[in-house]
Amino acid sequence: MLVVSGPSGCGKSTICKRLVLDARVEFSVSATTRAPRAGEVDGREYHFLDKARFRAEIEHGAFIEWAEVHGNLYGTPRAPMEAALAAGRVFLLEIDVQGGKQLKALGLPGIYLFIAPPDMHSLRTRLERRGTDTPEVIERRMAKAGEEMRALDQYDHVVVNHELERAVAEVRRLAGLSEPQGSAR
Ligand code: 5GP
Repeated sequence: MLVVSGPSGCGKSTICKRLVLDARVEFSVSATTRAPRAGEVDGREYHFLDKARFRAEIEHGAFIEWAEVHGNLYGTPRAPMEAALAAGRVFLLEIDVQGGKQLKALGLPGIYLFIAPPDMHSLRTRLERRGTDTPEVIERRMAKAGEEMRALDQYDHVVVNHELERAVAEVRRLAGLSEPQGSAR
């Protein structure tokens, strides 16, 4: 299990998209009640659920962890994770710090990585450039980022995303994915 957290805009989604190019890695598709962004496909980035359905899934114990983030609910479906781990695959979860904390508390073995922006100014610049959020949402994400940075010490490793290629290489090394697939270890 490879758990990746970090403030919105730190580049963790881009890093995760690079990791899943490796056939050993399976991405955990979370459920969420937030609306899809342009280009997002149901079942690929997220399973988009309404609040009633999400609550019903919680009741059924369908999520291994769930949390409210920026006013929306997000949860990790249990079944795909169990199947991937049983098959010996690297299961990659891109979740917030509350989710990371819950998984750690469950005693689930894994590598817990925190992706940090070089500084808060560059985080704001990235959120603005992304162009997907209103100024109010950006303010909310910046406030949340400060909170998330305080959870940093609950992670095994912190990777500062100064430069994408270096950050990807560092994450791959920490996750034991540096060697090409199939090579003897
Ligand atoms: P976004 O709306 O930008 O896709 O995600 C907002 C935040 O929710 C990010 O920090 C993301 O990592 C987190 N998130 C996504 N899926 C899950 C999940 O299943 N559980 C938890 N706890 N957080 C999640």
